[in-house]
Amino acid sequence: MKLILLGAPGSGKGTVSDFLANKFKLKHISTGEICREEMAKNTAFGTEIKHYMDKGNLVPDELMIKVVNSTITGKDDYILDGFPRTIPQAEAIISQKIDAVINLDLPESAVIERLSGRRMCQNCNSGYHIKYIKPKKEGICDKCGSKLIQRPDDTPKVISERFKDYHTKTKPLVEYYQKKKLLHTIDASPPPETVRKAVTELVKELKRN
Ligand SMILES: [Zn+2]
Repeated sequence: MKLILLGAPGSGKGTVSDFLANKFKLKHISTGEICREEMAKNTAFGTEIKHYMDKGNLVPDELMIKVVNSTITGKDDYILDGFPRTIPQAEAIISQKIDAVINLDLPESAVIERLSGRRMCQNCNSGYHIKYIKPKKEGICDKCGSKLIQRPDDTPKVISERFKDYHTKTKPLVEYYQKKKLLHTIDASPPPETVRKAVTELVKELKRN
């Protein structure tokens, strides 16, 4: 089974991919992770992407396509997370015969609530949420007692911009896979266990067909 997972920031795309990968024995291919690993290992590819990212530019399609193709070629069971991001990227993997595209849909208000509530320990990097993962003492890390901070990326204004950016870029992809009758949209606003149940049912259904 070959799956693609699309999802707004805050939709839980990474954790849902992990969950599905474990449940259905699929290889979780996260392009974000591949890029971070390659940069950490200072490979030729890592150096090249770092060059673009340092300048604040996107990694060009051809480069991403090359690395993803070399990762998925010959594999039959995987879930792609973070790829494709553009129509040329989607076209480049047509020969892979993707079985389904799962789109985790979340309204902007929910994205803002989830991301703007995140807090991080400035000392040990432990993650919290003012509503969902509360520390025992407000603003203080349970593990090391240091102060919790909000990352500059997690302010409502920045999140709203990221959300709009995501939508503009993803809309053509959503339409592209809709036309190919591969798109399955899942509402990501319920609690995580409900979302996990819904995606499990969907993948079971896909496997039956
Ligand atoms: Zn801490």
